[in-house]
Amino acid sequence: MEKSKRIALVAHDNRKKDLAEWVEFNYKTLLGHQLICTGTTGRMVEETIRNMLEKGEEFENPIIMLKSGPLGGDQQLGSMISDGLIDMMIFFWDPMQPQPHDVDVKALLRITVVYNIPTACNRSTADFMISSHLLKEEYEPRLVDYSVYIHRQIT
Ligand code: PGA
Repeated sequence: MEKSKRIALVAHDNRKKDLAEWVEFNYKTLLGHQLICTGTTGRMVEETIRNMLEKGEEFENPIIMLKSGPLGGDQQLGSMISDGLIDMMIFFWDPMQPQPHDVDVKALLRITVVYNIPTACNRSTADFMISSHLLKEEYEPRLVDYSVYIHRQIT
């Protein structure tokens, strides 16, 4: 991972307000990183940050907007993770409501574990992650060696 991180931000509808508040509080830090969001979350994050910008402040990189979660956005994110294009993820998922794309949510959370992606599913974890000194440093995550699995003999 480079010093500037590729940070995925996603929130289910009941958790979007939570994420907006977190983004508002941390927008200065977030400006220095590449943000990748599912569709509706992305629009909200962009608007939240734009409302906070002071004179002379700008996004270093425009937010990468994926499809809305239920329309494939979570799967796009999972695909980016397996291609090594995401460094960390803040995903405020809703623990109280079933989602139409629950299987995609499960798949996304699974793939973050497969590829050892730091993932925050609540604000406290997100606070710890964004205030970590590792956010500003290069970091080499250790990956599980799946070569035995990849090269297994099928008989
Ligand atoms: P949304 O999708 O940002 O388009 O609301 C989030 C999700 O449900 O994964």
